[in-house]
Amino acid sequence: MTPSERLAALRNHYTDVVRVNETLTKQLRSAEQRRERLTDDVDRLKRENETLKTSSLYVATAEELTDDGIVIKQHGNNQEVLTEVSPTLRGELDAGDRVAVNDSFAVKQILEAETDARAQAMQVEQRPGTAYNDIGGLTEQIREVREAVEQPLVQSDQFDAVGIDPPSGVLLHGPPGTGKTMLARAVANQTDATFIKMAGSELVHKFIGEGAKLVRDLFELARQNEPAVIFIDEIDAIAAKRTESKTSGDAEVQRTMMQLLSEMDGFEDRGEVRIIAATNRFDMLDRAILRPGRFDRLIEVPKPGWDARKQILKIHTREMNVDDSVDMEEIASETDGFTGAELASLATEAGMFAIRDDRTEVRTADFHEALEKVGDDDDTTGTPIAFA
Ligand code: ATP
Repeated sequence: MTPSERLAALRNHYTDVVRVNETLTKQLRSAEQRRERLTDDVDRLKRENETLKTSSLYVATAEELTDDGIVIKQHGNNQEVLTEVSPTLRGELDAGDRVAVNDSFAVKQILEAETDARAQAMQVEQRPGTAYNDIGGLTEQIREVREAVEQPLVQSDQFDAVGIDPPSGVLLHGPPGTGKTMLARAVANQTDATFIKMAGSELVHKFIGEGAKLVRDLFELARQNEPAVIFIDEIDAIAAKRTESKTSGDAEVQRTMMQLLSEMDGFEDRGEVRIIAATNRFDMLDRAILRPGRFDRLIEVPKPGWDARKQILKIHTREMNVDDSVDMEEIASETDGFTGAELASLATEAGMFAIRDDRTEVRTADFHEALEKVGDDDDTTGTPIAFA
């Protein structure tokens, strides 16, 4: 082999070695990335495992503090137990406090007012910030709600003079995200009424044994804050059609609903308290709650049509820096099947695209990208982004 042939062979060999080195470096990098991912997974699983291993606590009320210990009453089964409490906790504990106890009924912590179940279930707003002109479309529904809720509160004399009772309760029904809560808040705002919101599902899932008491408390709270609008969202959770099953959970739901009906039937005592309920599952409702004197004014809140979509888009972009060339009519045409909530998210998404592009004004292209994103997030147009 001549020296020049040997040199060529060495060069070839060198090129091969460099290529192999590159391939191995790439493999090493991807192995390292995989290791990082797996380490993250292990960390996450460890955390989940820890959470699963910690046993849950039960909620109880401290009834009496005695020299032998404290008497607690468990929620749900009302069982009374004499138990121990650590000296530190004992100093802070008063009769009537809510506490968390473990399997052996030892008091583990005293629940703060914020974690108190009752406080969590009801949201009270002295005067909600929603106005009728924040609601796009729904002109007819606004008229009906005003007639059934606002007028009896503002012009109760007129109802007395004519000699008729105003409708007892209003039931708003329609798909999620179409503005039912907004309607209820707007009417409370217009009448200077306190707005008290409670979700039916919260009543049932978290507070077995307490539903009926919560309903009583709700009406009591409303009476103390007259004029007040009570808004019960997801009413189907406590007023679903009766089923054949006889589990204790069902009996509990029944009791909660009976309490609601009896509060509503005692209409004369209700004074300046109006009740609005909402549901996405009208078909599931027990017809007993729709009888006269109960939820006797039904108002359907449908998905917005083209005109309403245009208005909703205008409402949700009025604070945004939108370029003059953006045609809301065109976007309204492209969002057939969208709900109000989806249109609100669409506007926010479009703003996000502008920010990502380092701009301060929002263009048509941003709306189109936002629309595409919505399409990618979920294949079915019209499925609410927020609820997907
Ligand atoms: P759910 O049944 O899930 O409680 P909902 O019908 O009560 O839904 P809202 O809570 O009133 O829906 O609406 C959710 C959000 O969607 C509102 O905060 C608002 O931003 C937007 N939205 C919905 N409908 C309208 C509308 N008609 N006009 C303007 N904004 C709307």
